[in-house]
Amino acid sequence: MDGFEFKITKTYGRARLGVIRTPHGSFETPVFMPVGTNANVKLLTPRDLKEAGARIILANAFHLYLKPGLEVIRFHEGLHNFMAWDGAILTDSGGFQVFSLNVKKIDDNGVLVKSPTDGSDVFINPEVSMEIQRVLGSDIVMAFDQCIGPNASYEEARDAAERTFKWAKRSRELIKPPQALFGIVQGGIYEDLRKRSAQQITSMGFEGYAIGGLSVGEPQDITISMTEAVVKTLPEDKPRYFMGAGSPDLILKLVSLGVDMFDSVFPTRVARHGVALTWNGRLNLRAAKYRCDTRSLDEKCSCYTCRTFSRSYIHHLLSKKEVLGQILLTIHNINFMIEFMKKLRSSTMEGKFEKFKKDFLKLYRGKGD
Ligand SMILES: [Zn+2]
Repeated sequence: MDGFEFKITKTYGRARLGVIRTPHGSFETPVFMPVGTNANVKLLTPRDLKEAGARIILANAFHLYLKPGLEVIRFHEGLHNFMAWDGAILTDSGGFQVFSLNVKKIDDNGVLVKSPTDGSDVFINPEVSMEIQRVLGSDIVMAFDQCIGPNASYEEARDAAERTFKWAKRSRELIKPPQALFGIVQGGIYEDLRKRSAQQITSMGFEGYAIGGLSVGEPQDITISMTEAVVKTLPEDKPRYFMGAGSPDLILKLVSLGVDMFDSVFPTRVARHGVALTWNGRLNLRAAKYRCDTRSLDEKCSCYTCRTFSRSYIHHLLSKKEVLGQILLTIHNINFMIEFMKKLRSSTMEGKFEKFKKDFLKLYRGKGD
């Protein structure tokens, strides 16, 4: 079994193309990773994901710890077997989820929260999170961090970043190859804290670096300026992962700053609300104008949905609240995101990243049809 490796194959300005190798296969970067919080990407089978070209997905350590629980995962000898996915898996440490819950107590030792499933007390800290991700057998493990909201004060952001540093050290000691461990940079919306956090986290020698706690409601120019400040401090030869960016226009901006990895529930969530992402912008298939529209969702897309079904049929399914409508849109949106990243990479390879960005945004921000 091979371990983790990252190689840059080409650069274009600050944007980079690369390849990441994991014990469960390789994939090219910049990459979009579909999110499968509860050990499934909602409404898709692993076969759908493979057909779309997905080679890495995300799962969530904290959610899987609560349900089905580690004893079930142990019976299956890991998450790959349990969910029948043989591609790579990155697991979030639980930091983000924990801090969106009811936190009862937090100190340097860890966090006590109320379980969202049964209301009981759940304790999590770096040791617990690393044990969960070790049992899951994740190819890429995320360090346990403290997240804060966009409205956090300077003092709150500083304390959370300091604690994230302490917790990163404890996480680092517990994860060994072939599992890769990524450190997470915090620091809220304060440039000096972001830089300091990036220096602290990079001093520990992780296999990759994540930018956490952004794209959580702050204005986009702040997302960009914070990312820029962090990326400047990160080493060139390690992958950079922006946590929670899923809209193609934000991804384009972040790629041009030198970010390599992205994840978001955005494409699958909007699909469940009747929205298709297309090269001509977003289409809301619930709209009455699609009732008799016999065209496919996107003439440039060759996914199963676009090869087989009309807008009219999907509109009908949505209006009857048939789950198949949401499934067909989810298949298309995941295919679209993966195809979008593929075209982004091939245009960068040809030295045409800027043209791709400009042409894409012109059509995508149009009205759709
Ligand atoms: Zn399609």
